[in-house]
Amino acid sequence: ALTEKLSRLVKQIRGQARITEANVQDMLREVRMALLEADVALPVVRDFIARVKDKALGQEVVGSLTPGQALVGIIHRELAATMGEGVADVNLATQPPAVILMAGLQGAGKTTTTAKLAKWLIERRKKKVLTVSGDVYRPAAIEQLRTVTKQAGAEWFPSSPDQKPLDIARAALDHARKHYFDVLIVDTAGRLAIDEAMMQEIRALHAELKPVETLFVVDAMQGQDAVNTARAFKEALPLTGIVLTKLDGDSRGGAALSVRAVTGAPIKFAGVSEKIDGLELFDAERHAGRILGMGDIVALVEQVTAGVDLQQAQKLAAKVKSGGFDLEDFLEQIRQMKKMGGLSSLLDKLPAQLAAKAGDADLDRAEKDIRRKEGIICSMTPEERRRPELIKASRKRRIAAGAGVQVQEVNRLLKEFEQMQAMMKKMKGGGLMKMMKRLGGMK
Ligand code: GDP
Ligand code: MG
Repeated sequence: ALTEKLSRLVKQIRGQARITEANVQDMLREVRMALLEADVALPVVRDFIARVKDKALGQEVVGSLTPGQALVGIIHRELAATMGEGVADVNLATQPPAVILMAGLQGAGKTTTTAKLAKWLIERRKKKVLTVSGDVYRPAAIEQLRTVTKQAGAEWFPSSPDQKPLDIARAALDHARKHYFDVLIVDTAGRLAIDEAMMQEIRALHAELKPVETLFVVDAMQGQDAVNTARAFKEALPLTGIVLTKLDGDSRGGAALSVRAVTGAPIKFAGVSEKIDGLELFDAERHAGRILGMGDIVALVEQVTAGVDLQQAQKLAAKVKSGGFDLEDFLEQIRQMKKMGGLSSLLDKLPAQLAAKAGDADLDRAEKDIRRKEGIICSMTPEERRRPELIKASRKRRIAAGAGVQVQEVNRLLKEFEQMQAMMKKMKGGGLMKMMKRLGGMK
């Protein structure tokens, strides 16, 4: 229902060239709701909305986007930027063994993540990894780590409930040094709620181990509570990263935004299944899409805004300059156009219930036109594509028959191509975008 509303608003503010106070008001209200529904904490939501508004107001709308779509783009970018730039990585830049300390509440996924991370480091970073459990309160916890560590193909350092966590840590570190482990991951005990004894214990472990990474493991399903938990851990420990677990559940993962805001630490990993290989580097862009619940639309808005593939455009510009632009390139442009998803495919990517409503005859025609052009060029031989001047009457008939169109249409395409070629010769790289839109029949 939410995306439906959002998308209605996207449509409502179509046809206006600028993002204004009036046309974003409703939209931002919906986004606010979306974030709250995704369990982002209220102060974080307020702050975020204010920032987006600031960025969006008065901004001109690029290319074929409506202000609504452009706003989605801005919101998405801001959301991703808030959660971290690009993809974070694990830091191992220290004299080995690099110690990674796992912190978090009971049930957050520390033990599981310890093993997943071990496997990840072995496979992706070719590291020799040792794990150890400092969870002496639940005998089963040590055994659990032993089992999952074995699955991960890493080594496990034995500990037992009658030892003190600090002694265990020292012994494990000593063992890791002596046996040239690259990484030692220290799993710790959690409690069901924040408690001072637990915090003191993990602070002591931190002081002893001097970990290069102190990862706060948090359950994405925890919702609003995640903020308080995160705050408590941040106050107790210098967190270097966050692992957001259980993202395979149906939560929208708003906790990411809150936890990031409260701790200031980068979100490094996402837990995406119970299985040992269910750990991924956190991807802020993708996660922003999930929080907004807007399907692929954000990705497409991004593409259009970025002017598609700059590299492609530059390559093309070089070709034009050298006079080598042929129908092969023309076809490439049409395909690019399709990939970039003209307006109608943008709408296609909207959630289904909406796409149904977005039926728009003009867009439909533009889309069909692109497909026909592609069909015609595909019916040409490679030589004809390189040298369109070869295409005389009999060849035209053959091509038309092959593409299932009238000869006039082949003529029209060739004419269009000629004009395009002439136009492009006069044009600098900056006009390419416009040209590509023309190609798509959606100027
Ligand atoms: P700990 O108390 O912090 O050590 O938490 P555990 O590692 O024991 O995990 C608690 C439960 O959450 C276990 O049943 C795990 O299988 C499950 N779990 C942990 N991470 C994930 C995840 O990313 N996805 C799913 N579906 N389950 C997870
Ligand atoms: Mg555990």
